[in-house]
Amino acid sequence: MELKSLIESIGLLGIAAFVFAESGLFLGAFLPGDSLLFTAGFLASQGILDIRILIPLCFIAAVLGDSFGYAFGRKVGPWIFKREDSLLFQRAHLLRAQKFYEKHGGKTIIFARFMPIVRTFAPILAGVGRMHYPRFLAFNVIGGFFWAVGLSLAGFVLGNTIPGVDRYLLPIILAIILASVAPGIVHVLRDPEVRRSLINSFKSLMGRGGKAEKSRAPTEKITLPQDYRNTDTSALNHVIPMAHMSEASKTRFTVQFGSQPWFKSDVPIRQKTTYRLGGPADFFLTPKTIIDMQEVITASRELGIPLFVLGGGSNVLFSDQGWRGVVLQPANTTISINNSEPTWTSARTDVNPPQPLPRGESIEIPSNGGADAKRTGWVTRWEAVNAERPAPPQKPEVPLGLPMIEVTAGAGASLQQLIITTHQQKLVGLESFFGIPARVGGALRNNVHGGPDNFDRYVKEATLLNLKTGEKETWPKEKFVFSYDHSILQQTRDWLIWEVTLMIPQADDTLWQQFDNFFTSWRQYKCSTQTASGTAGCVFKNIPPDVARAKQISSSAGALIDSLFGLNASLRTARISALHGNFLQSEIPSRGGVVPPWRGGGGSSDDMLSLINFVRETVKERTGVDLELEIELVGF
Ligand SMILES: Cc1cc2nc3c(=O)[nH]c(=O)nc-3n(C[C@H](O)[C@H](O)[C@H](O)COP(=O)(O)OP(=O)(O)OC[C@H]3O[C@@H](n4cnc5c(N)ncnc54)[C@H](O)[C@@H]3O)c2cc1C
Repeated sequence: MELKSLIESIGLLGIAAFVFAESGLFLGAFLPGDSLLFTAGFLASQGILDIRILIPLCFIAAVLGDSFGYAFGRKVGPWIFKREDSLLFQRAHLLRAQKFYEKHGGKTIIFARFMPIVRTFAPILAGVGRMHYPRFLAFNVIGGFFWAVGLSLAGFVLGNTIPGVDRYLLPIILAIILASVAPGIVHVLRDPEVRRSLINSFKSLMGRGGKAEKSRAPTEKITLPQDYRNTDTSALNHVIPMAHMSEASKTRFTVQFGSQPWFKSDVPIRQKTTYRLGGPADFFLTPKTIIDMQEVITASRELGIPLFVLGGGSNVLFSDQGWRGVVLQPANTTISINNSEPTWTSARTDVNPPQPLPRGESIEIPSNGGADAKRTGWVTRWEAVNAERPAPPQKPEVPLGLPMIEVTAGAGASLQQLIITTHQQKLVGLESFFGIPARVGGALRNNVHGGPDNFDRYVKEATLLNLKTGEKETWPKEKFVFSYDHSILQQTRDWLIWEVTLMIPQADDTLWQQFDNFFTSWRQYKCSTQTASGTAGCVFKNIPPDVARAKQISSSAGALIDSLFGLNASLRTARISALHGNFLQSEIPSRGGVVPPWRGGGGSSDDMLSLINFVRETVKERTGVDLELEIELVGF
């Protein structure tokens, strides 16, 4: 018998090498595994091999092989993620694998041992999916033990107990092979998604061979034309045109405020925005007190100097020319926890909640710019769920009747600081806004959403300054007419938010622990699903669900963009993020590859705007949908 003579000729070391290769080298995928171990055990029962050496040797080789595969996957993972999709490589499959390993990584590492081919790729994918190494190692050792020790011992015991068993060796080995591939076949037959993707692959292969009708579905992604330049903003919403001021006004303004510590001129705005893009602002002012702020407002009005109010700069794209006027960034960063108030009775307050899709609904997306996204649950601006993205962690419910604590935060305070401060004081609810690089003023103005909550749920009132008169007003929550990602301040540029008063429920120890656990998983979720640097988050609004349904496309702008261009596609210094199709990212080309923008800033707003225009035009051409901007374009 061939396997028997193969084992006899390669000896113990050869067997170990086969087991190692089979466990973690691409080339080993098609080597015999289960049958090799079983037959080696059988040969040991016949005195041809030494079982005392065979078993530990195979076990060590199996564990080392898997570990090698893992290390390889971890090393090449980032490179693989940057590759364009091809017949053999699909980034979507990789993201699915990553998600899968987060959930089922442990048992996969054990069970994959018993499935030919899968056993070779499982540890590599676990590495690409960055499964936690100590966890991987533990399951690798357990799986390696059952597989290497179990199968060789089974061969050895059978060989010793059943006389003349070598006559039945071939059927036994066939049975082992059948038993090891059966789970894979059953999985394919039971999972409609896998079935469909296999049928599609088969059809497209037939198409390639010319035997069947060529598939009409364009599987190729659209390549971004590197020479495309379009900085026209006339078809775009949310554009704040470049401002102008006279030299005389500029001089008088400098004379009035030039000696203040919060006065700066010619400040590169790229240092102040998350895109790390934008030319110089003539004046960049950061007053800390309301008196200073009012003085600046009055002087600007009198001198005809245009003002732009900036928060964390996480929702704006400034032009490469910057801003001919004042950029005013409130620097009142104080957060104070005041006094107790009545009890928590607040439910979700969306005036205009996002449209729910029936749970579990799946929409077939055609090739014309659709995404193979399977969407369930709420479809919102940021969390439009698709098959490739992990599900967000569940936020604990805040029970009614909890004591409420009043918290006041300056508009210039960072939202992250507010979240951490309140959480540490056992005030709960804001945790799901983690990951939004806004300031408190900007968060209120856009009524940011985090998971299932909108910011306004916690708002009591706010102090504002009128940018025309400098006068102060306190607005109760109702006056903002909040809805999902929206407040009335988006319809007027006449007001500056100075301070916000929130009402936050105070948790007991048990509830706080639940929120603390949620906070940890939420941070992990955000880090694994979003790029935080060089972006302004989602560039386009999601497509209204009824429009998306009528056109049979994904409602998620991110999924749509991904399906058309693929993740990580770039247009000079602007690219589609590797993690989220609707996050466009700026970067700086360098000699050694890509330098992240926070290391000094680079890239160009013109490239970003060209990418925005190209994406928008292509989506319109392919689907008829006119994507609207979520971010604001300033100074174009
Ligand atoms: C990585 C990343 C993740 C994000 N995730 C989310 C998310 O999960 N949910 C979400 O809703 N958004 C998200 N965003 C978008 C962004 O953070 C929000 O739109 C936020 O509201 C912007 O706040 P900001 O302070 O950065 O405002 P800026 O970008 O500085 O300004 C935005 C607008 O608000 C105005 N403004 C700012 N401060 C004031 C003020 N004090 N008074 C009056 N007007 C003011 C500005 O004039 C401008 O018109 C994300 C952005 C990034 C970069």
